[in-house]
Amino acid sequence: MAEFTRRDLILGGGLLLAGSGSQLLGVNPFSADGAVAAIAPDADREWIRTARILVAEAYNPPFYPELDYDPEKAVRLAKALNANTFRYPVAAYYAYFPTRTKYPIHPKLAGDPMRETLRLCRAANLKTIAYIPVNHPFMDVNDVNPLYPQWQRRGANGKPFVTTHFGFARYYEGCLNSPLSAEILQMVQEVLEYDFDLVYFDGPYQGMDHRAEFCHCEWCRTAFMKASGRDIPAQDAFPDDLIAYTHWMNDDVARGTLQRLTNTARGTKGLPVLFNNTSLLSRGWCRSHLIRVTDGFMFESAETPEQKLFNLQLGKSTDKVIWTYVGYHSQYNREHLEDKSIRGWYSYPVDGDNLLMDGSVAFSAGTGMVFWSLSRLYFMPHPPESYAEGRNIRAIFDLMEKHADLLYSTHSSPQAGLLVSSQTIEWCNAKSFIPPAYPNGFRGIWQIMQEGSIASEPFLDFDFERRDLDRYKLIYLSNAVCLSQVQCGILADFVARGGTLVATHLSGLYDEYGRAQTQRPLHELLGIKFTTDQPEEQPELYLKIPGRDELIPQDPQIVRFQELGDSSVLATTYDLAHRENLGAAITQRNHGNGRVIYIGSNLEAIYVETHMPVIRDSLLDLLEPALGASRRYRIPAEKGLLAQFSESPGIIVLHLIANDGNKVKKIRASESYMPVMNTPVAIRVPSGKSASSVHLLRADKPAQFSQKDGWVHLDIDKIYIYESVVVTLA
Ligand SMILES: [Zn+2]
Repeated sequence: MAEFTRRDLILGGGLLLAGSGSQLLGVNPFSADGAVAAIAPDADREWIRTARILVAEAYNPPFYPELDYDPEKAVRLAKALNANTFRYPVAAYYAYFPTRTKYPIHPKLAGDPMRETLRLCRAANLKTIAYIPVNHPFMDVNDVNPLYPQWQRRGANGKPFVTTHFGFARYYEGCLNSPLSAEILQMVQEVLEYDFDLVYFDGPYQGMDHRAEFCHCEWCRTAFMKASGRDIPAQDAFPDDLIAYTHWMNDDVARGTLQRLTNTARGTKGLPVLFNNTSLLSRGWCRSHLIRVTDGFMFESAETPEQKLFNLQLGKSTDKVIWTYVGYHSQYNREHLEDKSIRGWYSYPVDGDNLLMDGSVAFSAGTGMVFWSLSRLYFMPHPPESYAEGRNIRAIFDLMEKHADLLYSTHSSPQAGLLVSSQTIEWCNAKSFIPPAYPNGFRGIWQIMQEGSIASEPFLDFDFERRDLDRYKLIYLSNAVCLSQVQCGILADFVARGGTLVATHLSGLYDEYGRAQTQRPLHELLGIKFTTDQPEEQPELYLKIPGRDELIPQDPQIVRFQELGDSSVLATTYDLAHRENLGAAITQRNHGNGRVIYIGSNLEAIYVETHMPVIRDSLLDLLEPALGASRRYRIPAEKGLLAQFSESPGIIVLHLIANDGNKVKKIRASESYMPVMNTPVAIRVPSGKSASSVHLLRADKPAQFSQKDGWVHLDIDKIYIYESVVVTLA
């Protein structure tokens, strides 16, 4: 589990930080050598990529506060749910094996339930995961432990930071630069003496509730001085001090920690390693950009099925192993509770359709599934299939088991790449930039492409230079304010080779650290010049497209700019109230063999905020010349109907998710779903091939279809939550 995600989840986060030159360190035993560890040979195994995991969580019963854990009962439950993997909590608030480290052991621990669990899992043919927290909060403020003062994170006033977590207690935040890190490393070494198949790190953390505040403990002060010759900066220090500190904390301290632990865990056995990267889409978490270090990572959740599919596609774009929780996108909103840290059974849907929906999204995205957790079904008097929760988990685990080879062998095949600018989230301080609203842009264009039958893939800027961008016909930069010169050069090359680049709003205004720049390479490529750097907001603005009479609603926040040289104007902004033309709104120009389009507003964000079809259709018209000819499927632009297009050389899979559950307007409330009836679907087959059969995967029956001009046509009479069209090619 780890931090329960709040608003952070919907934000985005991470940093592009090239290796810094600074050196570690005080007592942290980890050195950041900059080496990127190779993927473990076993990590590409089918069971890992399509894992069905039951989590034994120890931040709650049956491990905490009382120890009621019975290995035999837990393993029996995993088998009843058709899990193929069991995650054991090596430690949480306490350690749950007889560790020789200084980590506190649960006072009731008797014998070695970890060893017994592993023995039973082997006998039951279950794979096993070691859950190891890396500076996750555990130091209960009520415990008197002489070591805790040495391990605490501290503010500039010397006071330790205290965080909430699950609602049972308050905990001191630990510091990665303290001697606590040596205990964690030793714990990993001890865990290797056991028979685990995979190691999962929850962390590294550097604070939780107070993560945005810098640590001023003696270890940090000494280590940062040694690394940079500077004192720990104030929160509002000059940008250069903040950049140096962030580099050090993220690259040297956090990445160095994860690198060393990962190398140790792989050790002689070559165990695969994953870590909890829920913070990938959040500002200010030190581990956001540690993707390269391990074999894969997990996202904990999202607020809606759409966000979950988006997040999982983003994860998959890194080519790493991706896991996700099922039963978690709709955690209870806790609105009437005074203490919002109170968690427990309601942090996941206890029954109902939500589990089927979560599982179907994970299945479509081709990720491993993690059911959190053992706790509730463990104490129920009847077997899990007696309860909706147990039946629904079993149903999605069964589906995964039956089709794991299909998911493992097919891969997404996107036409368009959507940049998620973690640099903008982390560094943009423009006056007009409203951080919680930034994702409206990239989620907006994703939603528009979903409804326009365009296969798209979100990707991360700190993954940018490694990627094969030519797999995309089009790249969309939604308000990507912070971009480096190198990134702009890569984009220019992509266009010169024949790609289409669409950039909107403040894209390219600042450098990768949010610093003003007079030279703006993206703007040169786009053929534009801002009249002022500050967008303006006013009511009653419309887009006017030459040759069209209709006025199209424009984003009320626009950028005033001039088109330069060979740019041509595709639309202007019209101020209806003052009957005034405010100049260019959308421009385009050719560059090399490709084309660039600039939209001087955040129009795609308006779509998420209003769902006005005219905005969607106008943007799709703009994209059609670049994408129409390569479209791979066609479905109705129906609200809630989501698609995931995947293929292998011999098979095409079109996953269809019928998410019409948002009729409950309060998100995170339990939802139920109506079937979507009579859905016409068209799928293009690659040239030179034809379809030999079409199968409906969830209904488990062949489908009637016709073929014409390289397209397969069929009608799906009913989609209840999920269906998948599998086209076998001849
Ligand atoms: Zn510290």
